[in-house]
Order: sequence, then C-alpha cells, then structure tokens
Amino acid sequence: DYRTPLTVVILGASGDLAKKKTYPALFSLYLRSLLPENTIIYGYARSHIELDDFKKRIGSYLKGSEEKKKAFLDLCHYHSGLYDDKSAYDEFDKLIRKEEAKIQSPTSKYNRLFYMAIPPSIFIEVSKGIHGSLIENNGWSRVIVEKPFGRDLESSRVLVSELGRLFKEKDLFRIDHYLGKEMVQNLMVLRFSNAVFEPLWSKSHISNITITFKEDIGTEGRGGYFDQFGIIRDVMQNHLLQVLSLVAMEPPLSLNADDITNEKVRLLRCIQPIKLDEVVLGQYIGTQDGKQEGYLDDKGVPNDSKTPTYAAAVFHVNNPRWRGTPFILKCGKALDERKTEIRIQFKRPDNFLFQDEDISRNELVMRIQPGEAVYLKLLTKKPGLDNSIEQTELDLSYRNRFENLDLPDAYERLILDSIKGDHNLFVRDDELDVAWQIFTPLLKQIESLGCIPEKYVFGSRGPKSADELSKKFGYVRSTGYNWPGSSKK
Ligand code: NAP
Ligand code: NAP
Repeated sequence: DYRTPLTVVILGASGDLAKKKTYPALFSLYLRSLLPENTIIYGYARSHIELDDFKKRIGSYLKGSEEKKKAFLDLCHYHSGLYDDKSAYDEFDKLIRKEEAKIQSPTSKYNRLFYMAIPPSIFIEVSKGIHGSLIENNGWSRVIVEKPFGRDLESSRVLVSELGRLFKEKDLFRIDHYLGKEMVQNLMVLRFSNAVFEPLWSKSHISNITITFKEDIGTEGRGGYFDQFGIIRDVMQNHLLQVLSLVAMEPPLSLNADDITNEKVRLLRCIQPIKLDEVVLGQYIGTQDGKQEGYLDDKGVPNDSKTPTYAAAVFHVNNPRWRGTPFILKCGKALDERKTEIRIQFKRPDNFLFQDEDISRNELVMRIQPGEAVYLKLLTKKPGLDNSIEQTELDLSYRNRFENLDLPDAYERLILDSIKGDHNLFVRDDELDVAWQIFTPLLKQIESLGCIPEKYVFGSRGPKSADELSKKFGYVRSTGYNWPGSSKK
C-alpha cells in the first residue's frame, strides 16, 4: 500500500555500493514518484560522518536538478553505530521511530525496508541486529541482501538457515542485479510471446548457446575482495547461471514469481556435473608497455594467487529439449571490451541447395549491455546481378527503435519490486542451493588440484584455449560479417 509510510534503512551506508547504486536508484525512484509519499531514508554504518558531509558524498552520485537533489537529500538521515551491539541498534530504532512519529500514517502502519550494503562477513550479525531491534511490528519489514550468498554449498546453506531463522522467505530479497536488466526481463517476452522463436528453441535447431560477460577493466584495487571469490563465484555462479536458466527453462505455468522460479529450478536440476576438462581458467597479466597492471600487481592480491579472472565452461542440460546442445558460459575481467550477451547459434539448414557454399550459421544475439539490442544474423542474396550470398542481419537496436529511451538501472527496478513485495526478480533459497550444487564440486576440484590459470594480456580477448573450447563444442565462427552500424552501437 503506497499510502503507508516507508523507512528505507541502508546498512553499510558509508560504502561503495550504497553511494554508487543504492542511493542513485532510490533517487531515480523518487524522481519517477515511485517511492511512497512519506519515505524516510536512514543510512547506518560505523564511520562517523556529519550529516552534511554524508549528503555531499551521496549527492555527488545523483543525477538530476539541484532542486530535486536537495528535496531528496532532505529525506536522508545518517546514524553511526556498531554492527554487533544490541544497544546501538536499540538506539537507532529510537531515532527511526522519532522520524516516523513525525508522519501521520493514513493506514496506521509503518513499513521498513532494510538494504544490506555490507560485506558478507557481517551479514549474520547485522541480520541479528535488525531482527532484535529494528523490525516494525505494525507493517512489513523486508530485507534486501546482496551477493555473495556464501562461497560454496556449505556456507550458503549456513547463511540461508541463519537468515531463515530470523526472517521469513517472503520478507527476504536476494539481489542478483542481472535479473533487473531490461534485456534479461525481455527474455520471457521474446521467447513466449512470439510465435517465431519457440518452435526453434531446442536441440533440433540450435547447435550451441554462448552466454558471455566481458569487462574491460581489472580489479582496480578491489583485488583483496575479489581474490577470495574469483570470477566463477563472482559472475558465473550467479549472473550467468540466472541468464542460462531463463534462456533454457520450459514455459512456466504463469508469470507468477513462484511458477517462474519453479521452472528455473527444474532446469538447473537437469544440468550435468561440470567437467574440469571442459573448463578454461585464465588470469590477466599487465601490458608490455606497463600501462595496465596485471592481476597479481593489485596490492590486495597475494603474489602467488591462482584465482581465475577469466573462466569459460561448458554446461550440458540433460532434458529432452536440450540434450546435445551445449551451453558455453564465458566471463572475464580486463578483456578487449565490455559486453554481456546471449548468442544462440543455429544448425545448418537441412537441405542440399547451398551445401557447396561456405554458408555461415544463423545467430540470434541478445545483447544485455551495453547498447541493448536483439539481432538475428542471416544470409541474403547479394543485391543485384550477382548471385552470391551475403551475411546480413535483422536488427533491433533499442536506441534506434525506442524514442527517448530511458532504461531504469537494474537496482532501481529491484528496489521498486521489493517495495511492492514482488519476488519475481530475486533469488529463491532452493534456487540458490541448486546453483551451489552445480558449482561446488568444480570449485573444490580446482582448488584441491591447484589449477593454474592460463595467462592472458590485459585488453586481449582472454585465454586462447577458450576459443578452442567453443570450437570443440560446435561454435562455428563466421568470417566475413561486416556490421555497418558500428558507430551506432
Ligand atoms: P564496502 O564498501 O567494502 O563495505 C560497505 C561498508 O561496510 C563499509 O563502508 C564499511 O562501513 C562496512 N565494512 C566494510 N568492511 C567491514 C568489515 N570487515 N567489518 C565491518 N564492517 C565493514 O562494500 P560494498 O562495495 O559497498 O559492497 C557491499 C555489498 O554489496 C557486498 O556484499 C558486496 O559483495 C556487494 N556488491 C557490491 C557491488 C559494488 O558495486 N560495490 C556490486 C555487487 C555486489 P563502516 O566501516 O562505516 O561501518
Ligand atoms: P563478433 O564480435 O564477431 O563475435 C562473435 C563471436 O565470435 C563471439 O562469441 C566472439 O567471442 C567470437 N570471436 C570474436 N573474435 C574472435 C576471434 N578473433 N577468434 C575467435 N572467436 C572470436 O560478433 P557479431 O555478432 O558477428 O557482430 C560483429 C560486430 O557487429 C560486433 O561488434 C557487434 O556488436 C556488431 N553488431 C551490432 C549490432 C547492434 O548493435 N544492433 C547488430 C549487429 C552487429 P567473444 O565474445 O568472447 O569475443
């Protein structure tokens, strides 16, 4: 109910995520008038920061008119306190109540949304603090948790059960911000609202599917954090697996969150154990001119770290629809470009008309970022007297197709959904469990064998073996495709 006042509490408000994502997302919702009319935003962390300084810090990341920024910052408060001290939370609760008391609630209720923008090492103690002192009995209290949700099956189960003792699953919102991305949401619509795709969406017509995440930056001083996790835990186990399950799942019974998650879980349970010889690991090294540092040069990273910053792995889905169509997941840092895409490569057509020609495969590409686009690479007759074949495309580039495109940031959508109580774009506990079941044996194997990642140079396309792996699993790279619109990207 939008008339009920809302207090958003950001724990770890002094941190990176809070200033770069959480506050800007709340500001965008404010600008769109999507926050409840009476909203209070309370930051909490240990650092002593004067309210004015805190507002300046947050304000520098907000985009909008000065007037709107000021109005939004007027809703923001900050309090410093410890994370493991009940009396600190009790005191914080009093402050919140004092602010809430200034607002007359038309429903006589007050809701609270807790956003944990803190490192995973303190998830549980902060949850206990929330549970022990800050829960609003007269209205709902919901908790948003950020990844990483553990580092393997065991630790994830501990986290799930500890949080489960404190909060009901319906009040927990585990963010995988990839689910908030426009193109990821579009997957359901593309697949199930168009008659042209679904009949082709199986091993009968699809040769292989590649899901790629590339970043063109390295760890940039956050290597200390990254080194405990590595790229498989940081990107593949969550973001890429989420995308895979949406690409591959069977049609859900309805658009209801539980029905969709049920299908995702069912699909994940069909994934075969990942084989180490179907995995490529990489770690970036600096450029020769010294302009870009290597991973091991990051101060937080031990000199002998074997943590992968790149990984490619093949997934086999053992169900009637996909048995025989490999899914190749690739992700890496410090590569040649920034992009996330799904690339569906079709089989050759089943006729003999053009067998002598070196014809390229059709590919349906959904680019999640940057420059959202869906394009289908297809062959056409070269126009004119010439009878040769040329590779072209049906191209839906969002920026060209939609006027005044204003795509909300993933965090904006996710926060809005948590206010609405819609779980559709959040990770359910059993879904998380299967995801860890898939990856934990592989991660343990990599660690116990001490696998050495293949080196690749900062700014390259990654380890050479990754292309060989794709080729081995049926990806045929088309040559001679020229996209004329590179400047429009
Ligand atoms: P952060 O800046 O390292 O930490 C947030 C705040 O937590 C800090 O300002 C600090 O506040 C407190 N904190 C840090 N280390 C602590 C420790 N060892 N013990 C107690 N308190 C500590 O983290 P972040 O980048 O904002 O990320 C927060 C969460 O979001 C993490 O779980 C992270 O994995 C996840 N995440 C971050 C991003 C991102 O873009 N940064 C993206 C996706 C997910 P005080 O010292 O003032 O208390
Ligand atoms: P592409 O960039 O040629 O990549 C196709 C696949 O080949 C990717 O899986 C890529 O892997 C791999 N690959 C790239 N270089 C390789 C190499 N040297 N050796 C082995 N494998 C290699 O993609 P495309 O779809 O044919 O598109 C070509 C360009 O046109 C792209 O820049 C694309 O963004 C642009 N385009 C844009 C639009 C649009 O915005 N609407 C529409 C059509 C085309 P990695 O991903 O791992 O590098």
